[in-house]
Amino acid sequence: MPAVSAGRDHEIAVVGAGMLGASAARHLADAGCDVILVGQGEPAERGSSEEELVSQPVYASHYDVARVSRTIDPDPTRAWLGHRSVDQFADVAARTGITAINPVGHLWVDSTAGIDPLVDADRRYSLDCQRRTAAEVSNAMPYLSFSDGSDTIWEPPPAGSVDPRAHVAAETAAAVAAGAVHVETLVGSVAPVGGPVSDGVGGRVEVATDAGTFTADRVLLATGAFSGHGTSPAAGLDLEYALHTQLLVHLDAEEVERLAGMPSIIGKFVDPADDFYLTPPVSDRRPTADRASRNISPADRFILKLGAPQDDHVRATADELAAWFRTDGDPAFAARLAGILERLLPGLRDVGRWTTSCVTTYTPSGFPFIDWVGDGSGRVACAIGGNGFAAKCAPALGELAAGLLLDREWPTEVDRELFLARYAS
Ligand SMILES: Cc1cc2nc3c(=O)[nH]c(=O)nc-3n(C[C@H](O)[C@H](O)[C@H](O)COP(=O)(O)OP(=O)(O)OC[C@H]3O[C@@H](n4cnc5c(N)ncnc54)[C@H](O)[C@@H]3O)c2cc1C
Repeated sequence: MPAVSAGRDHEIAVVGAGMLGASAARHLADAGCDVILVGQGEPAERGSSEEELVSQPVYASHYDVARVSRTIDPDPTRAWLGHRSVDQFADVAARTGITAINPVGHLWVDSTAGIDPLVDADRRYSLDCQRRTAAEVSNAMPYLSFSDGSDTIWEPPPAGSVDPRAHVAAETAAAVAAGAVHVETLVGSVAPVGGPVSDGVGGRVEVATDAGTFTADRVLLATGAFSGHGTSPAAGLDLEYALHTQLLVHLDAEEVERLAGMPSIIGKFVDPADDFYLTPPVSDRRPTADRASRNISPADRFILKLGAPQDDHVRATADELAAWFRTDGDPAFAARLAGILERLLPGLRDVGRWTTSCVTTYTPSGFPFIDWVGDGSGRVACAIGGNGFAAKCAPALGELAAGLLLDREWPTEVDRELFLARYAS
């Protein structure tokens, strides 16, 4: 890993090497820019030793085994972003040998009124989805149990799940192969100095990191939930957060075989307390097992994940969010998830389970702020606010952010207004 070359000037710096930052850096490097991607690395895996998660001031929302990946979506812009990302996931995997997508298909379970809008995306993008009753799904996948009366739609592969860590690794590798510099360090301040871009001379952005200070002509802030850390033009953006608890379940190879063909699933029901999302078993690639599964051979370890939407959004400081990341989540919410799992997969035979915490970042429009921020110098932009769907759309969102920095025209398929940044009043 190269160090920051103190005093060096780059054309563009991307701050935050997460799902959006890594994708944007790849697009910028592919366009021939001199790019530096700088971001805090992941702390040691919780439970990999007797020690607690390393205490650091910023964390990422991609420390996870899988996220639901699909194109069908009731919102046409999100469906477009998902569709636009499909080929890019495949292209980056081919370029780097790092595959993020687990193409197991996606199942959406809802009322008939909830399924109807999903059919639009199916038609528009010729996805060849299949609509089936809950009873038909239970016949095909006897391990699943849904309340009668639900309607479903199944999107075929490459829908399924995306490994968010693999996505970041693949995009970063592709960016570096295209000439980007990647530095793992904490950024403490981002400050424009000198005149605006429109002056044509003199201005720069100073980026101060734990590994030294460098300058860039332009900076993209892709700092996820941690826009409030340090000194940054993104401080004060109109953002809310959901503090998530997820349930992870360890399975052995025999149980995974019994669950063969399981897609990723989103379930929505009359009582929203029953709503959930699930990603099917994936190999446990963590270098060291958690305490619950130390006796299981690594080749025989798989992780199924269950979570639920959390609509109780809060305003929070970076320090408060960091404190949440150091917890195992909310025990009461974890108990609710355990109940959902029992009803959905009765008789599941797991060999261990644990919970984790995570944070999603929300904007008023429901779409990331992809816009210029700060003092009007035209030097600092942001791609912040994943709104809970940015994993499956990260390549396309990174493309929009890169396009902004490259002064490209905004694509006509996407309403620019939805992505304009706003500061909290
Ligand atoms: C529980 C949960 C479930 C989800 N499920 C899904 C799903 O099923 N499908 C889906 O599409 N999306 C899902 N998401 C959303 C998705 O994971 C996020 O939208 C996505 O990770 C956001 O990407 P990002 O690049 O904005 O942020 P991140 O991936 O968090 O990246 C931000 C990066 O910036 C770094 N950083 C921040 N500040 C600094 C600093 N000062 N210096 C250096 N580095 C810094 C962080 O360390 C991090 O690496 C889920 C999120 C959560 C929490």
